[in-house]
Amino acid sequence: MSLHSIPSVLTPTSFPWWYHKKDLLLKIAKREGTPLHVYDRKTIQDLSTMVKSTLKSVDRFHYAMKANNNPTILKLIRSQGIGFDTVSIGEIYNLFQNIDDIKANEILFTPNFVSRNDLEKAFQLGVNVTLDNKYMLEHWGSSLKNQKVWLRIDTDNPQGHHEFVQTAGKDSKFGIPIPEFKESLKLAREAGLKIVGLHAHVGSGVDKEKTWAKTLQTLSDLAELNPDIRTIDLGGGLKVKEDPIEGKEFDLRLVEKALHDTKKKMNPNIKVVMEPGRIFVASSGIMIGRVNQLKSKLDHHYVGIDVSMSHFLRPALYKATHQIVNLSKLESNHNSKSIVVGNVCETGDILNKSAMLPENTEEGDYLLMAATGAYGKSMSSRYNLLQRAKEIFI
Ligand SMILES: *Cc1c(COP(=O)(O)O)cnc(C)c1O
Repeated sequence: MSLHSIPSVLTPTSFPWWYHKKDLLLKIAKREGTPLHVYDRKTIQDLSTMVKSTLKSVDRFHYAMKANNNPTILKLIRSQGIGFDTVSIGEIYNLFQNIDDIKANEILFTPNFVSRNDLEKAFQLGVNVTLDNKYMLEHWGSSLKNQKVWLRIDTDNPQGHHEFVQTAGKDSKFGIPIPEFKESLKLAREAGLKIVGLHAHVGSGVDKEKTWAKTLQTLSDLAELNPDIRTIDLGGGLKVKEDPIEGKEFDLRLVEKALHDTKKKMNPNIKVVMEPGRIFVASSGIMIGRVNQLKSKLDHHYVGIDVSMSHFLRPALYKATHQIVNLSKLESNHNSKSIVVGNVCETGDILNKSAMLPENTEEGDYLLMAATGAYGKSMSSRYNLLQRAKEIFI
């Protein structure tokens, strides 16, 4: 089996840094124990550079820190001139705690069904707030007076790799639907606040390259209704391949081309912002688990490891498929179809239901799961009272 499809330069999957660091990774796994997250610093930097240098039509990037809030990662990304996108007051406090010289204007706050109390705290801290429901304009006027905010619009173009990550359209709880936009502007005027930006985030793991240009077009048409609007935020959701055999390549250059064509027809005074999470970190991280037991039951061959849905939830939550290889036997033929599972008491605790592993995979081998740098540790729990996975940087 070839471990990687031939990488095209501009995809995050073309950074299989771990493939050449097998010996180091095995040494770390033995020393630190498993389950374990390992991140590659250089890849984090390379990914930020790649995204910024490819998407030249974007004036400013904010990293959606819910993807991974490890302080070392936050600092590395910020050192590339990238701001942050937050979704809770806890994330905002976390930034002020972990980054000494952070300024409020580096932080976007894009909450959903937030409490009035937390919204007021965000205004006090001075971060850039996006409102995603006209309820706040109607009922919380005294908290909003004299503020400058962005509005999150539901562009009615849901996208993404699973229904749970589609954040637009009639079945999603996010955003102000376009038919309510004019009324929202009127409510904002009455409440004495200014709408200075428009925002939309339509989903995660989006592989249709024209999606962001389409959002830009929709929002720039709406912006014509209000001369105060100076920023359009296209959200995040850029696709990262978690398994080389999965689907088509996602080409960032096509995202840029579509954005460029749309932007040149737009009001030149409007700045374009994006707030991806996943693409900045996913392929910089891997997880290592140790094989506990093997089992052949009827037609199924199970390989049980000490990484579980408590440590890495994406396969159970979204049916995401992450490539898994046997790090201890990396050179062996990976030709035996295996169901890799964790040791949590849930039928859904499956990490990969069609992993290809060497036939002689055995107890004590270390398996590596790829592209776990985003929504790994940050989504983990201690369900079944398992220990959390450690995080190591190389
Ligand atoms: C989660 C989220 C993002 C980032 O999504 P990715 O798929 O990680 O790029 C951006 N904006 C908002 C509002 C989000 O909730």
